[in-house]
Amino acid sequence: MSRLYCHLCSLPQSACLCAHVSPQPCPLPVLILQHPLEARHAKSTVPLLRLALPDIRLEVTEHLDPLPPPAKGRWWLLYPDAQALDVDAEAATLPMADIGGLVVLDGTWRKTRRLLHLNPWLRELPTLSFSEAPAGEYAIRKGPGGQALSTLESLAHVLNRLDADFAPAPLHRLLKIRVAQFQSHQTDAG
Ligand SMILES: [Zn+2]
Repeated sequence: MSRLYCHLCSLPQSACLCAHVSPQPCPLPVLILQHPLEARHAKSTVPLLRLALPDIRLEVTEHLDPLPPPAKGRWWLLYPDAQALDVDAEAATLPMADIGGLVVLDGTWRKTRRLLHLNPWLRELPTLSFSEAPAGEYAIRKGPGGQALSTLESLAHVLNRLDADFAPAPLHRLLKIRVAQFQSHQTDAG
């Protein structure tokens, strides 16, 4: 018997999250560059991000042409390199007018490094990092960048730092439900 998928959230019907989604506008343009191998991962948080923030753009590829500039400012890359501005420690001095859009790499630490290697223009972008995000709740996987935070949690935290009106709670709620689904599935299987 073939598995039935919800046509709105693309999850199996038994795991449909549509009733729990409160979509909100993204406070600035966000592009997620996802490594193709990551896209097949059942535990990727990107599908949840797309439900909660329908404005975000997703590109699943190893090679992406340089982006045209956002409506204002420049694209910034969410990546913890040595030059990165820390949205927590340097919150008071962030050049907000210059942060016109965010590029987020989705994949393991190794795959995100590969994306940087294959798309040298990404390495020219100014970078943002964070240091005080709440402890990760997504216990089933380690997040990109080596930190124990999923892409969803990382982006929710940074967007909230860049725009205090942005509410991370609806995103965390979706993630919690998804974690519970995986845990109950493990219990069923065991
Ligand atoms: Zn659904």
